[in-house]
Amino acid sequence: MTDKTAPDWEIHAQFEGAIVMIGFGSIGKGFLPLLLRHIGFDKSKFVVIAPDGTDAHLLKASGVQFIQKALTRENYAQVLQPLLNAGKGPGFLVNLSVEVSSVALIELCRQNQALYIDTCIEPWPGFYTDPKLSISQRSNYALRESMLDFARANPGGPTAVTTCGANPGMVSWFVKQALLNIAKDLGHSADVPATRAQWGELAKRLGIKGVHIAERDTQRAKSPKPQGVFVNTWSVEGFVSEGLQPAELGFGSHEKALPPEGRRHDFGPDCAIYLTRPGAGTRVRSWTPTAKAQHAFLVTHNEAISIADYYTVTVNGQAVYRPTCHYAYHPADDAVLSLHEMAGAEWQRQPRSHILTEGEILDGIDELGVLLFGHAKGAYWYGSQLSVQEARALAPHQNATGLQVTSAVLAGMVWALENPKAGVIEADAMDFARCLEVQMPYLGPVIGTYTDWTPLQHRGVLFPEDVDLEDPWQFRNVLVR
Ligand code: NAD
Repeated sequence: MTDKTAPDWEIHAQFEGAIVMIGFGSIGKGFLPLLLRHIGFDKSKFVVIAPDGTDAHLLKASGVQFIQKALTRENYAQVLQPLLNAGKGPGFLVNLSVEVSSVALIELCRQNQALYIDTCIEPWPGFYTDPKLSISQRSNYALRESMLDFARANPGGPTAVTTCGANPGMVSWFVKQALLNIAKDLGHSADVPATRAQWGELAKRLGIKGVHIAERDTQRAKSPKPQGVFVNTWSVEGFVSEGLQPAELGFGSHEKALPPEGRRHDFGPDCAIYLTRPGAGTRVRSWTPTAKAQHAFLVTHNEAISIADYYTVTVNGQAVYRPTCHYAYHPADDAVLSLHEMAGAEWQRQPRSHILTEGEILDGIDELGVLLFGHAKGAYWYGSQLSVQEARALAPHQNATGLQVTSAVLAGMVWALENPKAGVIEADAMDFARCLEVQMPYLGPVIGTYTDWTPLQHRGVLFPEDVDLEDPWQFRNVLVR
């Protein structure tokens, strides 16, 4: 692939080892040009592995080796080990696939001193729909704990950046920038916290009750969605899997009561709860600058748990402060229709699926940010408003959603190369300023804006409602019942 319009792209980092990328779907395809632009490495030691060869011509055109193969529990170590060690030093595994266990890959990387990055903690196939697992066991909380168990048992070592896409990933960097912006606007100290405890103290001092990962995807297709096809702007596989997991949220210290279907886990740090219903069937009230008030889906995501955990303030081992945190996702209209169709079929997936390419989208933006609420100025949204038109101009092979993700992978990879001995790490603990510096050129307008919206706005006008009038930011008011 050649970038005819390409200026001299800034090389952010050099790497001597082999780069092995797993998966060449919407995110893998979009990441390829960013990798080629911004990391200096030996292309002859770069290989991509995926079972689906539909877009392999893009790799051939760039002179990149492609291995058409599905990785399984049985073959992954045998396939990956020699590839990771084919360069001058230890390799770098970039996992942009579905259905390949992240924990297994991290373990393999550690054995080979290789660096690692992914965008989601993936299990081996079958996990999400295994009826033998309890709801708690098939949650993202459980997946994250499996990762943290590994990290606790294996401290330090080669950097393994987990769940570093747009969200989870970039939004954790946005939370930090948003906290600093709010602090400045409220006249608090402008010092940037240096430790996790200090970040928690800052959120507590500012009175942040919670964070929505508040997203509105307005990208619309040129052709309307056909019946029987699940259409999305990124992985259908990934979205359906997480949508069928229980709805989950980091559960804040200001919350007065568990929601009716809320349950606690009986293991781990107890920073999050789950609802006994799928996220794809759970709506919440939220706000983004374009949509204003909207109903969005409370789809489970790693960042809902990691952010709540990261900002927890403890005294003598007791949590005294924690923000509520969850995803509030209004996907593209075609994806909403697809979810509706699938819900009607009692969550049986449509026989066909389709990811909208940048060429198939007429217009629209992916408005993806963080809404920090409960402080003295109400609520503050900070995020990216990347349009599909801008995405097309910035980099090939991806829509706006894709570019927000792939540029976060780039930022995470650069950070890993600059910090190669950080062990297993989540985006919350990385240098947010450096990561955003790398990513910003690909995010379109990045804005911060206050709103006086609360989930109580216009409530109880036509029908009586059971709401908490004393504290608008109770999850009970946010959940659409
Ligand atoms: P996709 O469905 O378009 O592509 C998935 C890729 O994985 C395909 O190339 C497929 O062939 C490959 N694959 C499937 N089974 C495999 C196996 N056994 N071995 C090797 N490769 C296999 O998905 P996508 O949109 O490219 O998303 C990729 C991953 O990124 C997913 O896990 C998704 O959840 C995640 N994601 C994260 C974010 C974020 O912001 N954190 C956003 C979008 C996607």
